[in-house]
Amino acid sequence: MPALDAILNEKIALLTAKGRKRSLIATQREDGVFITRGGKRLVSMSCNDYFGLSQHPEVIEAACAATKKYGAGAGASRLVSGNHLLYEKLEAMLAAEKGTEAAIVFGSGYLANLGTIPALVGKNDLILADKFAHACMLDAAQLSGATVLRFAHNNMSHLRLLLEANRSEHQHCLILTETVFSMDGDRAPLAEIQALAAEFDGWVMTDGAHCVTPAQAGVHSHTQMGTLSKSLGSYGGYVCGSRTLIDYLQTAARSVIYSTALPPASIAAAIAGMEILQRDENLRTKPLANAQYFTQLLGIKLAESAIVPVILEENEKALKASAMLEEAGFYVAAIRPPTVPENTARLRFAFSALYTKAQIEKAAELLLTQGFVCAP
Ligand SMILES: *Cc1c(COP(=O)(O)O)cnc(C)c1O
Repeated sequence: MPALDAILNEKIALLTAKGRKRSLIATQREDGVFITRGGKRLVSMSCNDYFGLSQHPEVIEAACAATKKYGAGAGASRLVSGNHLLYEKLEAMLAAEKGTEAAIVFGSGYLANLGTIPALVGKNDLILADKFAHACMLDAAQLSGATVLRFAHNNMSHLRLLLEANRSEHQHCLILTETVFSMDGDRAPLAEIQALAAEFDGWVMTDGAHCVTPAQAGVHSHTQMGTLSKSLGSYGGYVCGSRTLIDYLQTAARSVIYSTALPPASIAAAIAGMEILQRDENLRTKPLANAQYFTQLLGIKLAESAIVPVILEENEKALKASAMLEEAGFYVAAIRPPTVPENTARLRFAFSALYTKAQIEKAAELLLTQGFVCAP
């Protein structure tokens, strides 16, 4: 056996022993709600396609039409020959939606963070990131070469403490947080973060990958990152901000320069998804309403977003709950460390606009009657 594989096998064995080995399971999505896995049809409550737009006939049609007209791939990076005319339309729509001057689309949300953060700060600078900020923000922070410190989740006194102790030794300061936290569903106190940034001469960048509705009115960070891959049902990422920021990122974000542009189908699908959301105000409110209905049924803290964690602490218990739900026709992923902190293993529900009341009630009832959540 080659030496590298032998070493990797040891690493895999170690991960397996810790219950941290992950595996890919073939899954077919049937529509915005149902998936098929291992021959079983399940209501998926673990998908970030909050409006089922990836399965929407209009979105599919737009992707097919763009492929037929323009081909399957982009052929080059945006700066070389891949800057399809559809980008202009999508970027104008994104900027309008977020109320910013401009927007830039990247190959994915991950690439948006990876390109943007090191373009804004570097050596001699300070990054303060929320403890629960997404892995790709942290990867990007490391890549930037700045000093990276983490503040306790949503803890403003800790953020202040870190600013007081470290800000003056650094040139620039960037605060990183998520608008809606992907594993907890809670929201960052953006107004307070902005105030601290102003007080300490720092900048704020927010990751809004799980915002299903426009950013909260009146509280806009300077640099708003988001994804086309979740509520818009397509693939790709973006940053919205000032004209100057976007002009700069077009030249300075390495993930734009050195990576091939999105396939035309992805851009067209995102445009179609945005058009559907823009004309249907009612649809926009449903993921949160469904999540709140579920939390009321369970008697747990009212949902702040479409994401609801049911925290079961031990890995085993989370896996058991997930298996129990699967037996009853629901797919809800058990999320374990290192994705979440030790002893906070959980079921992570992501509520689609498309679930029926009966589906939500059934999922809640199963958790209550099977003893995973105490009755309210
Ligand atoms: C999913 C996610 C990303 C990455 O976006 P992709 O488009 O899937 O690459 C970034 N940040 C957060 C908070 C996410 O949940």
